[in-house]
Amino acid sequence: MTTGPFYLGVDLGSTTAKAVVIDGDGEIVSSSTIAMGAVSRAGMQRAVDEALASAGITTADLSGTISTGYGRRLVPGAQRTFTEITCHARGTSAMVPGVRLVIDIGGQDSKAITVDDDGLVQEFAMNDRCASGTGRFYEVLAQSIDVPLEEVGALALTGSNDLEVSTMCATFAETEIVSLLAQDAPIADIASSVHRAIAARTLALVAQVGRHTPVVLTGGVAQNPAAVAFLARALNTEVLVPPHPQITGAYGAALLARDADKRGRVVVDDVAGADELFPRPSQPHSCGSCDGTLTSASTPTSVDLGLPIRLGG
Ligand code: ADP
Repeated sequence: MTTGPFYLGVDLGSTTAKAVVIDGDGEIVSSSTIAMGAVSRAGMQRAVDEALASAGITTADLSGTISTGYGRRLVPGAQRTFTEITCHARGTSAMVPGVRLVIDIGGQDSKAITVDDDGLVQEFAMNDRCASGTGRFYEVLAQSIDVPLEEVGALALTGSNDLEVSTMCATFAETEIVSLLAQDAPIADIASSVHRAIAARTLALVAQVGRHTPVVLTGGVAQNPAAVAFLARALNTEVLVPPHPQITGAYGAALLARDADKRGRVVVDDVAGADELFPRPSQPHSCGSCDGTLTSASTPTSVDLGLPIRLGG
């Protein structure tokens, strides 16, 4: 059995809760991902309990806990919170050394983060105001064509992607997909064409920070092989996916807890998160005057951080 010290990272996202336990070498001992539907303390607790149980430890064995994600302030026992931007950069850089561009596509937002040699955030752009280009959009596709979400990517890879998909609005997408079905378009072609359109949307996000390489896709959507393939085609470069793409934020949080413990203090400046930069409306993705077309879907916001955020000595 692995011996301590142990560190816990918790990522309470908009749709899933992730918990990762690492050891003193930064190796992942256990992890857990719980689908919640909406931010939930119970879901977060289940993720933590499962990760601790499969590591064979209790909270008393932890030498540090850090939380991240949209619900990060709801995590009890965390010494500190960090935003998802900081944690995804940290976790992904540890999983894929040398990465320069991290694209994270979660349930309700997507972000492009450039990182430096040390895996520190240089610049990022984020879309959290609109479901366009997020996991939610793939869910609408799956429901509309009546295919399990886990199978939509494989199906999309078998179709041709030349159907016109004009909407990038998740609210309008269902209507457009139903209309394509009524025209007898094969569901594989619909799936493929929607994936192509979403990749174009992600390309617009990446343009805000620049197409740096190597590129790594993280978040739950990275488990969709067609999302990866169409993004690679849109970027015209290879897109890498780490072995556990959905837990990179929680892993980054656990690594920061380990850093802080080893150095006796918190060692990295945080980068503003989605909720601080753009407080979410009570209804996610309230759409305002957007007409849902590719050109006018809400514009991703780019943040130039100026000086890179440096690890303290
Ligand atoms: P968040 O951190 O915002 O909660 P995640 O990074 O956990 O989001 O990603 C959740 C999204 O990942 C879901 O909306 C769903 O679209 C997608 N997803 C999760 N599992 C799979 C899978 N097996 N195949 C394809 N997509 C998936």
